[in-house]
Amino acid sequence: MHTVTSDTLGHAMYDAVVVGGGVAGSTSAVSLAKKGLRVLLCEAGLPSNRRLAGELLHPPATRTLDELGLLPELEAAGAMPAYGFAIFTPEREKPTMLSYSEIRGERSTGIALEHASITHALLTGAKRTPGITVWDDARVLAVEQTEGGNDVRIQRKSESEARTISTRFVVSAEGRKSKLRSQADIGIREHTTFRMLGWKIPNARLPYPGYGHVFVGSHSPVLAYQVSRTETRVMFEVPLDAPLEVPRSLLAALPEPFRSDVERGIAEQPRTTARFCGLHPSRVTAEKLAVVGDAGGCVHPLIASGMSFCISDAARLANAFSSPTTSVEEAFAKYETSRRQPMFTRSALGPALVDALCGEGPEFRLVRHGLFRYWDRSMRGRETSLSLLACRESSLPTLIREYVTVCGFAMTGMATGVVKPQELPGAAFRLLKKTSGYIRNAA
Ligand SMILES: Cc1cc2nc3c(=O)[nH]c(=O)nc-3n(C[C@H](O)[C@H](O)[C@H](O)COP(=O)(O)OP(=O)(O)OC[C@H]3O[C@@H](n4cnc5c(N)ncnc54)[C@H](O)[C@@H]3O)c2cc1C
Repeated sequence: MHTVTSDTLGHAMYDAVVVGGGVAGSTSAVSLAKKGLRVLLCEAGLPSNRRLAGELLHPPATRTLDELGLLPELEAAGAMPAYGFAIFTPEREKPTMLSYSEIRGERSTGIALEHASITHALLTGAKRTPGITVWDDARVLAVEQTEGGNDVRIQRKSESEARTISTRFVVSAEGRKSKLRSQADIGIREHTTFRMLGWKIPNARLPYPGYGHVFVGSHSPVLAYQVSRTETRVMFEVPLDAPLEVPRSLLAALPEPFRSDVERGIAEQPRTTARFCGLHPSRVTAEKLAVVGDAGGCVHPLIASGMSFCISDAARLANAFSSPTTSVEEAFAKYETSRRQPMFTRSALGPALVDALCGEGPEFRLVRHGLFRYWDRSMRGRETSLSLLACRESSLPTLIREYVTVCGFAMTGMATGVVKPQELPGAAFRLLKKTSGYIRNAA
């Protein structure tokens, strides 16, 4: 075996070996290198454009990518501007528009681009960042703890034998199925598994080009946004055991002529699928291993926060090193603490929003009524909701305050007949139970 465990002075070859070159891995590598750490980034081989995954990046993430020098790569790859969300519900004639421009002190646009183009662009950006060595044909096989850090066993496609590299610490950016996380005995909880079906529709007449569309009309939302000048991504959520086809009830939520375009696209274009499950690890650091991105938790794609959270993780981890010589223990303790509340907030927000938009039963009709009334009446409400979605605001007290405010607005639904008086006690009880479920799942 080809072994390079240390330099001539006996120091580790790298400060960090980052395992995985997806959004979390590339941005973590660049963020750590910008702090003066020596980084090796290993990617086993980026998935092709057949993978259905994140394509919409909120403005705060776009800003961070710009600060890291990675935005030009995405722009060169054809990133489209994203202006916010248009939310369609059957109860309302017109969609509710939530525009990023309402977030004060933030950029007014995010970006949208096919997932494979995002990951390739970020990895290309990492390659030209000083301080990073990128091996984009390298699978990390095992990590063994040593006195000064870790020995990492790596197999490159171009080499016949695996080699061992020494590093002060390892970053697992392997995605939700992270093996190193399990090897480090970090426990996880998984729940709500379903499948997303996606198509890229050419020349679709999306009602508000440049906006992320959420069509609510059935048990789950339909998501659509432009990923290039001529193509629109549309995604449907179906139960895991259901046939791989779009239920009529979901298609019915789309307005014409967009619905006809989508039906044509479904008939003519290849389908991509992704299995999705909520995931909560018990912690995100072990002795010399830090976990970032999806390896550190996943939340419903409706809030489009996965990649934004990957990028915030990269910043949180790098900021935990006040200098390249900060001890790994000290930095990991900071990282663990700085991530706890944002992850909790995001994990509670995702399912609560999905239920508020799509939940059936009087309790959800009430919350939905309250949410839209809040957005109609309060500019600050729209700004805070968007800030929470965009991972710009991640304080738990803010989420609780917003939730309580929405419930307050929901009360007017009783006077306007959204629920019948006799339904109210049951609805209030089930809502309380549901709320404690969001908290339990996020904790
Ligand atoms: C249908 C769907 C829609 C979504 N929509 C959005 C959205 O609009 N906006 C948004 O922000 N998020 C969205 N997300 C979430 C987003 O896709 C993820 O949060 C994000 O891609 C996670 O990135 P990651 O780098 O953590 O993991 P991954 O993308 O899974 O990357 C992990 C990488 O690690 C590599 N790897 C694994 N093991 C090894 C190893 N041993 N050695 C070397 N390399 C290894 C893999 O090859 C892979 O490239 C969506 C997700 C789904 C499923």
